[in-house]
Amino acid sequence: MCIAINIKKVPETEITCSNCQACCCRLEVLLVTDTGVPYEHIAVDEWGGETMLRLEDGWCSALDRDTYMCTIYEKRPWNCREFEMASYECQTERAIEVVYIY
Ligand code: SF4
Ligand code: SF4
Repeated sequence: MCIAINIKKVPETEITCSNCQACCCRLEVLLVTDTGVPYEHIAVDEWGGETMLRLEDGWCSALDRDTYMCTIYEKRPWNCREFEMASYECQTERAIEVVYIY
């Protein structure tokens, strides 16, 4: 499998989570507080640090692949709660289009 990365700028006025394929759910999400994330979605590194588990496709394991909705919304990590739609970080993630070539 190869990965191609395209950069495309999305106009700020068009940015909404409802027309996004959960770009921010490809990021590494550190667990810094206990919000009740189910254990099966947590990856633990060799030093005991916890992050959201990401699957082979690059997205968080708690993401519904059909709807691009968070399946643990009420228990999502603090970092996910703080990630604001249309923020600089959001725009940056949306500009990066990852294309999987099999
Ligand atoms: S916060 Fe931004 S990157 Fe994340 S799903 Fe919403 S629009 Fe997409
Ligand atoms: S916990 Fe939910 S909001 Fe956070 S990265 Fe995973 S799917 Fe996205």
